[in-house]
Amino acid sequence: MSTLEPKYHIPGPKSAELLALSDTYEPGCTSQQAPIVWDHAAGCRVWDVDGNEYIDWTSGVLVTNVGHCHPQHVEYIREQAGRLLNPYDFPTPERVTLARRLVELTPDNLDNCFMLTTGSEATEAAMRVARRYTGRHEIISFWGGFHGRTYGAMSMAGKMGTKKNFGPLMPGCIYLPYPYCFRCPFRLHPDECGFFCLEQFADRIIEVSSTGDLAALIIEPYQGGSGFIFPPDGWLSRLQEWAKERDLIFILDEVQSSFGRTGKMLALEHEDLRPNLLCLGKGIGSGVPTAALLAESRLMQSLGPGEMSSTTGGNPLSCAAAHAVLDIMAEENLPENSRRIGEYMLGRLQKLAEEVEVLGDARGKGLVIGLEFVKDMESLEPAPDITEEVIMRCCERGLLVGKVGFYGNVIRVAPPLVITEEQAEQSVDIMAAVVRSL
Ligand code: PMP
Repeated sequence: MSTLEPKYHIPGPKSAELLALSDTYEPGCTSQQAPIVWDHAAGCRVWDVDGNEYIDWTSGVLVTNVGHCHPQHVEYIREQAGRLLNPYDFPTPERVTLARRLVELTPDNLDNCFMLTTGSEATEAAMRVARRYTGRHEIISFWGGFHGRTYGAMSMAGKMGTKKNFGPLMPGCIYLPYPYCFRCPFRLHPDECGFFCLEQFADRIIEVSSTGDLAALIIEPYQGGSGFIFPPDGWLSRLQEWAKERDLIFILDEVQSSFGRTGKMLALEHEDLRPNLLCLGKGIGSGVPTAALLAESRLMQSLGPGEMSSTTGGNPLSCAAAHAVLDIMAEENLPENSRRIGEYMLGRLQKLAEEVEVLGDARGKGLVIGLEFVKDMESLEPAPDITEEVIMRCCERGLLVGKVGFYGNVIRVAPPLVITEEQAEQSVDIMAAVVRSL
């Protein structure tokens, strides 16, 4: 059957029934976008409760980096579940050896680790440490930034959608422009702007917003929630220097970008960044809730024993899952697969963007690629309606995608990192056929 023709009627009857139950009893529990209910998954494939099979471009929203239900991952988790689940206040071999592996994985200035369960906890923890260490309270973040849904993390969001009608927010939040070059608010081009947003504009915002009590800066290496937006090369290392010049703690939020996603184990490797605090999450457990804060010991020492704690942080099940992820990443060289397959997919998708006007931009690194849809290239007006159409048409043809973005007009291309060349080719064929048919 041609990839142009729909294969499935969406939603199937079982999905429709369960979606109705979900709407009744847990409305809004997910931001589920294609109307299907997942049943099981393996590698890069997902089956819904009606038995329809899809190639997955979501990774359960950038989580299952080693692939769904990777046999080795499942085996470590099963073994651990039968042995020990939660000793809370006591260390376990899994926890201490994981802490060592994470410290060894990250830049050598990061010599301490603290285990948590969610990404929001990790960004909250980073802010606590930065405030305690500096004795100051203001934290800089970026337009469009996303760091989680708890109050501190939400307050740092540079995105109205995250915090609308939830005020008052944590005091001391200051927002600077992120280089969203496709929609540069200064109408400049990255090749010749001299990083205007940072060099010429940032201090002006600080002058009018800060009380002179700046503690830290938190940033994502690429913006996830706002639409897979990548800063131009060199911008992040310049930002790191800029933060140092102002005596700020530099917090890098790699909750989404780590564990091979961008074609390197950590996104910071692209520019050899050395943050003072590093937040990890999502892919670290590849589906088992796990997160970690990596820190310079001088910063961690500002907290006394028990001042930071989390009931399930560092639990043996999460640690076993993370050990499995680290082993699989190394044995299967998944960051390299992410780089290689990502390059192929991005190349084809960029050609498609040249051909079809409403696909305004295709951008990314490794297996995190954003497809930004617009009404036309003149106005660049965001086209969330077209984006939704693409999601449905892809789903009917066996490709599972979701949307994201400041304007809800960006399709996520983020398959598990185990995607094969054949699956990459087959899935890009579906997307190309759908985009050409718009
Ligand atoms: N930071 C970033 C960059 C994220 O993408 C997310 C989740 N999308 C978080 C923090 C929050 O993680 P969690 O949902 O696990 O709390």
